[in-house]
Amino acid sequence: MDTQTMRTWAEVSLDRLAHNYHALRGLTPYGTKFMGLVKADAYGHGAVPIAQKLEELGADYLGVACLAEAVELRQAGVQTPILILGGTPAAYAAELVRYHITQACYDLDYAKALSAQVQETGGTLTVHIQCDTGMSRLGFLCHEDTMEQAAQEIAQAVELPGLHAEGIFTHFSDADGSEEYTMLQFDRFLDILQRVQALGHTFAIRHCANSAATLLYPATYLDMVRPGIALYGHFPDGNMDPALCDLQPVMEVKSRVVTVRTVPAGTPVSYGRTNVLQRQTRLAVVPIGYGDGYCRGFSNRLSVLFPGGQAPVTGRVCMDMCMVDVTDLPEVTEGSVAVIYGHTENGEQPVEAGATVMNTISYELLCVLTRRIPRIYR
Ligand SMILES: *Cc1c(COP(=O)(O)O)cnc(C)c1O
Repeated sequence: MDTQTMRTWAEVSLDRLAHNYHALRGLTPYGTKFMGLVKADAYGHGAVPIAQKLEELGADYLGVACLAEAVELRQAGVQTPILILGGTPAAYAAELVRYHITQACYDLDYAKALSAQVQETGGTLTVHIQCDTGMSRLGFLCHEDTMEQAAQEIAQAVELPGLHAEGIFTHFSDADGSEEYTMLQFDRFLDILQRVQALGHTFAIRHCANSAATLLYPATYLDMVRPGIALYGHFPDGNMDPALCDLQPVMEVKSRVVTVRTVPAGTPVSYGRTNVLQRQTRLAVVPIGYGDGYCRGFSNRLSVLFPGGQAPVTGRVCMDMCMVDVTDLPEVTEGSVAVIYGHTENGEQPVEAGATVMNTISYELLCVLTRRIPRIYR
């Protein structure tokens, strides 16, 4: 595809994805399985091309949030095992079986409902038992005072007809924050594994490490790691030591300047007149706005990058456009490429800078990039 004629686009580097994949795999001992998280359209990168690349690279598993995401991958020909991390209504058990999709199983009632459905329609449904060791989201509740009950219920779930419990997992809520809490969760996970084993059940794939744990806590790897954001080249937390792993951002967002106009001092810019120009200003109109997922909260608070340097977003970000001050960048003209997220030879405009402005995380800014931005794979 030719970006010359494009308004705004995202360049997704499958080479960088491969680089991050190998860098993360390099942290884990030989034999540790790898689940690539491709939920939320692969964190905005495009689920099908990313999953196809991960399959080619040899990922053992893919992780998604819901049935529709899993079916999209199967219909695109992806054959790698897929785990749905969220709940799928038991009524769809036949679809799960038919598409060879693994389902997270988060309590005994759900396990019974899945088992009943599968017995009606035939086949075997592969499940991974989900343990809530402190995230308080989904899973058999594995706190000290509920541990024995959880073990009993997990054992009952595993024994239900029509279900094959291939795996068991938990999810850390603060692996990029508290080592103490993460280790509490991990200890609870080991405890439940031991208790269920005492009841006669073991699991082929025990897993718990998200990106932060994969980067920080090798002791938690067990049989498989489960990174998402790190695969896409971002640290889960902006304060994490970049020396932990050589991660390269996979996606860059670019936009082509529509026009540049010179506007006199004293002129207000954009909706609400939040910015009144202090000097005569060259304003570049950049065709990206909150309709593309470029946050309105960036108004007057973030910059875009040109080869010659940064240009501040001036006035409010509109739905489809924003204005940037290029007075100090005389080389910027109609057709110049503005780097929204990414780098040039001389500088960087990281997603993390936008996340700081919005008091959020890189994950969210990647996920909110809309379909209007074509993804171009390199
Ligand atoms: C999203 C998710 C992950 C990946 O988290 P990252 O922080 O992106 O690595 C792993 N496990 C579960 C259950 C998740 O929901």
